Amino acid sequence: MNQTLRINGERLWSRLEEIGQIGATAGGGCNRQALTDEDRDGRALFARWCEAAGCTLRTDAIGNVFARREGTEPNLPPVITGSHLDTQPSGGKYDGIYGVLAGLEVIESLNEAGIRTRHPLEVVVWTNEEGCRFDTAMMGSAVWSGVMPIEDAYALTDRDGASVRDELLRTGQLGSEPATASPIHAAFELHIEQGPVLEAEALSIGVVTGVQHMSRHRVIYYGQEAHAGPTPMTLRKDPMMALGQCLPRLYTMAEEHGADSRITFGFVHASPGSSNTVPGKLEFTVDIRHPEASHYQAMLTSYEEIIQDAAKQFGLDMEFECFWEAPGVTFDTDCVAAVQKAVDTLGYSHRRMVSGAGHDACNVAKVAPTSMIFIPCKDGLSHNEKEAVIAADVTAGANILLNAMATRAEVVA
Ligand SMILES: [Zn+2]
Repeated sequence: MNQTLRINGERLWSRLEEIGQIGATAGGGCNRQALTDEDRDGRALFARWCEAAGCTLRTDAIGNVFARREGTEPNLPPVITGSHLDTQPSGGKYDGIYGVLAGLEVIESLNEAGIRTRHPLEVVVWTNEEGCRFDTAMMGSAVWSGVMPIEDAYALTDRDGASVRDELLRTGQLGSEPATASPIHAAFELHIEQGPVLEAEALSIGVVTGVQHMSRHRVIYYGQEAHAGPTPMTLRKDPMMALGQCLPRLYTMAEEHGADSRITFGFVHASPGSSNTVPGKLEFTVDIRHPEASHYQAMLTSYEEIIQDAAKQFGLDMEFECFWEAPGVTFDTDCVAAVQKAVDTLGYSHRRMVSGAGHDACNVAKVAPTSMIFIPCKDGLSHNEKEAVIAADVTAGANILLNAMATRAEVVA
């Protein structure tokens, strides 16, 4: 393919604005939580656009929507792209939505250019990516890729007791297709970065090569409650002293694993929580992340040594557990290469990077060759009504998606 294809940036921008009116919040964001009336209305608008673009639509049993543009060889597995249309309660207008509407824009641009591909193309709307109303993120893609049994997903309930299955039925999103992956030739997800790196480096495109390894841990130190006055420092069993020793060692340890390592202490709770009592119990959480498996494993080993050391030194009993872990994802070499080729051809500023957050693409990657494309967002903000993007970046990202998909779907001469 010698031709460089381009999408229509104005159309894509105006559609992002139009769908953003559904569930619009006073602060300029969006509240379109999964399987609400607003989510249904957003999907309906998307479906109308797809039908006007000549796509055929189907919905599976967990409400994932597939809009298909036929290939010249309909029996070949499709090249897919997709993301989500649901939002956080006070979410932005671009998280997820951008990836879906850019997929439609790819199809419309190929239609207008009269270009056919050997492989069919499909744009997917994954159900309940956000996991805020129903407490499992990336639910639709998890069911489809076999990570989560559909009955478990159906049984999830919101705060009012409405189940996923009830709400799929009520909003007309319970489709007849089985929610299981069929063969996929290649998959791409275009998304806003949701972090500050691209903006800080003034780059337009992130060529995403994978997703970080990540896990969350809970540590409890048991000491002895004692009066803050009469008890000499040397005669205390004070779990806070152990934490005080751990923190600098853990920060230093993370630093030794390079700029890509992350360690976060998001929760610390001392009991009984009285200012003049030595705490008898101290609980805290540790979130550990690294893109490279060898570093990540080494960080976990060091973390355990450091927290156990401190307990020993201060004579404390302790408990610790890993309560959540998501293994990292390495994206498909050919898909990453297709994105890199598009970036090189179009000449956008870019860098290779690893995603710090989970996405539907992590689930898709379990069953299909997959990769992702990022564009910057203002101040790295997301899950926030103030989420903002620049029109030129929106166009750039969709141009990359178009060319990467065209490469993998094989343009017919
Ligand atoms: Zn998202």
